[in-house]
Amino acid sequence: INSDYSGPEKILEKKKDFLMPCSYHFYKNPPQLVKGKGATLFDSKGKEYTDFFAGVSVMSCGHCNDLINKRVMDQLQTLQHTTSIYLTQPVVDLAEQLASVLPGNLRRSFFCNSGSEANEGAMLLARVYTGKKEFIALDGSLHGRTFLSSGANGIPMWRTDPFCDEVPVHFASSSEDVKKIMEEKGDRIAALLVEPIQGNGGIRPLPSDFFTSLRPMMKEKKILLICDEIQTGFARTGKMFAIEHYGVQPDILTGAKALGNGFPIGFFASTDAIASTFTKPSASTLGGNPVSCQAGLGVLEFIRKENLIEQARIKGEQLKKGLLEISRDCPFLGEPRGFGLMLGLPVSSYQDMDGAERCDLILEEMKDRGFLIGKNGLGRDVLAFQPPLVISSEMISLMLENLKKTVRK
Ligand code: PMP
Repeated sequence: INSDYSGPEKILEKKKDFLMPCSYHFYKNPPQLVKGKGATLFDSKGKEYTDFFAGVSVMSCGHCNDLINKRVMDQLQTLQHTTSIYLTQPVVDLAEQLASVLPGNLRRSFFCNSGSEANEGAMLLARVYTGKKEFIALDGSLHGRTFLSSGANGIPMWRTDPFCDEVPVHFASSSEDVKKIMEEKGDRIAALLVEPIQGNGGIRPLPSDFFTSLRPMMKEKKILLICDEIQTGFARTGKMFAIEHYGVQPDILTGAKALGNGFPIGFFASTDAIASTFTKPSASTLGGNPVSCQAGLGVLEFIRKENLIEQARIKGEQLKKGLLEISRDCPFLGEPRGFGLMLGLPVSSYQDMDGAERCDLILEEMKDRGFLIGKNGLGRDVLAFQPPLVISSEMISLMLENLKKTVRK
């Protein structure tokens, strides 16, 4: 496969010349990826990797999934795009199927093209429905790059806009904090926005009783719960949606990433009552396009057919158990956390090396050994394991063996 590709060095040069300088890499020598199948990726030099990051929880159904791509190819060759002023089948079929898998009575969707847009729309809907302007978000959260959504980012490095404080968001670090803000300012707050498991914040699940004391007050003060499932949704955590681990019913749920398995799609969904206020004309040019919706339909079909919810739970248990064993024998690894196949392993400072630096060394060596792992966390010091849900248990065992060797040195 070599000769057709320019190679990583040339790509880095072109990125420097022609792309905005805001992009960054995990590796000193990032590979040029040219091919993928299932949980396996290949680079321009023919080296094979097992993918433990899945493009940040996107490729849950695996790279180049035949079932999904057949639907997409058939659609591409039949009708690629029209505007939503005409009628097309895939968008209504996908909305109907989403309604059957979304928690409780969330059954009306609005489709867009990314996670940021999904949260932007959800926050807008919360304002429209409540007539209130302000929000509560959590420290360590990441919700997007657009105006309202980035205003809700609780990770300093993702607050890019120098004026993002113009979005009225109160940040909280615990359920008690949220309660206090609601007590004082509830009449101005439209919604509480949460990720059930913070992804970029370091794979940090909310405490199991997080919502217990909040829900009654939210109902009373007409504060909506927006659940950002952009990284956690669609079987990733061993449930269709991660909020199911908490037994609460969100008012609005947002999704993106895994619903497209590589094709751009995002949505926010809500109840009939909340949706009934969203009547002013609003449309996304490409949101709900037949091709992305076919990808979404393919993803839902594949999740059902391959039992990916169960797979994520079983493989997740295997991975968590293995990570726990490794971390117990290692002075700089904390306990693994997360649900299903969304697991984080914190790396702490030890002897003369800080956690972030060691995290990078582990990533680099694991890459050389043929395993692409992610990283996140406020200090960029958490190893992130979010493989395609089709990963085999042999692949997990092999990765664990290699990780063990890597951290033992
Ligand atoms: N919410 C969460 C939880 C995310 O992880 C991300 C992206 N990492 C976003 C929102 C934004 O999604 P997008 O990049 O598709 O705009």
